[in-house]
Amino acid sequence: MNRVYNFSAGPSMLPMPVLEKAASELVCYGTSGMSVMEMSHRSPDYEAIINDAEAMLRKLMNIPDNYKVLFLQGGASTQFAAVPMNLIGRTGKADYVVSGQFSGKAFKEAQKLGYDVKCAATTKDDNFDHVPALTKDMFRPDAAYVHVCYNNTIYGTKYPEIPDTGDIPLVADMSSCIISEPIDVSKFAVIYAGAQKNMAPAGMTLVIVRDDMLDYAEEKMPTMLEWKTMAENGSMYNTPPCYTIYIAKLVYEWLLSIGGLETMQKMNQEKAALLYDYLDSQDYYIAPVKKESRSMMNVTFVTGDAELDKKFASEAGKAGLKNLKGHRSVGGMRASIYNAMPRAGVEALIEFMKAFAAANPKK
Ligand SMILES: *Cc1c(COP(=O)(O)O)cnc(C)c1O
Repeated sequence: MNRVYNFSAGPSMLPMPVLEKAASELVCYGTSGMSVMEMSHRSPDYEAIINDAEAMLRKLMNIPDNYKVLFLQGGASTQFAAVPMNLIGRTGKADYVVSGQFSGKAFKEAQKLGYDVKCAATTKDDNFDHVPALTKDMFRPDAAYVHVCYNNTIYGTKYPEIPDTGDIPLVADMSSCIISEPIDVSKFAVIYAGAQKNMAPAGMTLVIVRDDMLDYAEEKMPTMLEWKTMAENGSMYNTPPCYTIYIAKLVYEWLLSIGGLETMQKMNQEKAALLYDYLDSQDYYIAPVKKESRSMMNVTFVTGDAELDKKFASEAGKAGLKNLKGHRSVGGMRASIYNAMPRAGVEALIEFMKAFAAANPKK
């Protein structure tokens, strides 16, 4: 059976060289005589894997020494609770920017926990078709942190530059844009990301946290959510998501081998430009996102006719272009073109879009 082009928003495609390497090591890893899935997380073989994963990610993202790298469980959604529980003690209040569904969930979770949190800006009234323009005077100066979602997976928007929050620590959910391009980690207090969009299979959550952010955790919080405990135990307070971390390591290794995040960014920019340029060149499909907020990873478009949208996703699927249906809350189409999506996949999509438009004239 041939592999398809999988445009899923997550879990999503993994690079072929990574899948092939994993397959070749699936049954016996190195000289261990066992699969990575069967290894003790305390064994020397596994320690080397997790240490390499961290070292490679530090190199790839140029993570400064005063940041800890944590490989956790629970998905990005668990961090919606962990972020306030770890940080709000700094001043007792926090500000959120609601730019889509996930940042809305993060805000609600902090509210649910009873904290003094404020929505400082939102683009809800515009159906989240752009990210809010942010200036530091929009935030409470004594906020413990400002939380943003850097790339909005569902709506296909992204901040064109890192928001300026002045002296207030900036916390970013980067689940759907992590390692897609170089980013200045030193501008953030905390970055977190679920693995299954651009890094590995589901099961691992990356947290990159600056050392001075580890001292404000709630006393009565669950140990598993406390970053400091995880940092002091090298992400091994309990059993980490061993196999997912191993795949992440292979992904980091692959990225380093092709030239790191500068090279990846160039490839991603080219892929996104192909698709957006096509969308801008015609009027059959409409790209709802404002140009300055366009995501490089998740490209949304509609025909303007819900029946045609449905037909598009279904016929594309039959043509080997899978999972182009938009998120259930917004409809339309969404092409997620993460690192592992080859340029040929985007080209095939555009050819399909042209043929579909020609064969299905609008009434
Ligand atoms: C997918 C996603 C989430 C949710 O991730 P889980 O790991 O499933 O909890 C959160 N934020 C963003 C930006 C996402 O894309």
